[in-house]
Amino acid sequence: MRKSAVITGSTSGIGKAVAESLAASGVNIMLNGFGDAEEIEAQRADLEQKYGVTARYNGADMTNGSEIRALIDATKSELGSVDIVVNNAGIQHVSPIDEFPTDKWDAIIAINLTSAFHTTAAALPHMRAAGWGRVVNIASAHGLVASPFKSAYVAAKHGILGLTKTTALETAQDGITCNAICPGYVRTPLVEAQIPDTAKARGITEDEVVKDVILAAQPTKSFVGLDELGALTVFLCSDAAKSITGASLPIDGGWTAN
Ligand code: NAD
Repeated sequence: MRKSAVITGSTSGIGKAVAESLAASGVNIMLNGFGDAEEIEAQRADLEQKYGVTARYNGADMTNGSEIRALIDATKSELGSVDIVVNNAGIQHVSPIDEFPTDKWDAIIAINLTSAFHTTAAALPHMRAAGWGRVVNIASAHGLVASPFKSAYVAAKHGILGLTKTTALETAQDGITCNAICPGYVRTPLVEAQIPDTAKARGITEDEVVKDVILAAQPTKSFVGLDELGALTVFLCSDAAKSITGASLPIDGGWTAN
């Protein structure tokens, strides 16, 4: 039987790429995230047509614990199993800590951290019953190091590494692994959107943000590719990766080696 994966925030960017890579490896897909209904339906149908898997969509809001748990239930009932959970949905807000809006703080902690608690809590009983499971948390280089003006994001990403380790220890004898992927900069809408705010917060131009802030952080001086994130996730979901658990894996062009 095909395995099934739920990927939060898979209507854009990294989540979309991870969903495509998992589908290409023969895994049924539950898409999640916001966006234009017609575009999401086209994405879903495209996965089925290209890879011969079953793909479904569920619009659970990652700020809402009961919708998140219902997303896991829907994956089980519509796809037959919950074998892989990729906690990917995330947002960003760039602002000095003393001006950081409380509602932005709350939303970032909810979407980037607490949502993974709910998906994991709801999925583990299914994985334990099957004797196999994979939880992949899309953290960030900002789970390992900080940058100014990203207090909520850095706090959430450091937090998800703690959740990753705890989940790994609690599932270590159950055929389940839990790991965090820590990407450097990937050119997605999330990164595009923070360029103007970073320019404002630092008092520099948008071109200077790309050159002197974003790519300055990465010794390779290039963005990490979406296909690389997909391939690493597929590897972590393979049996070859069964002894990798509780790990935080940088894929950041050497950023955190600095
Ligand atoms: P993106 O903006 O392209 O995609 C974010 C996805 O999350 C979208 O599908 C969006 O609809 C979904 N989402 C947002 N709020 C949601 C909510 N309340 N409920 C359900 N879905 C919601 O961003 P991305 O760059 O692909 O980021 C994906 C993940 O990768 C995030 O966790 C981000 O922190 C992480 N990350 C990104 C980069 C990067 O450089 N792009 C680097 C490191 C880590």
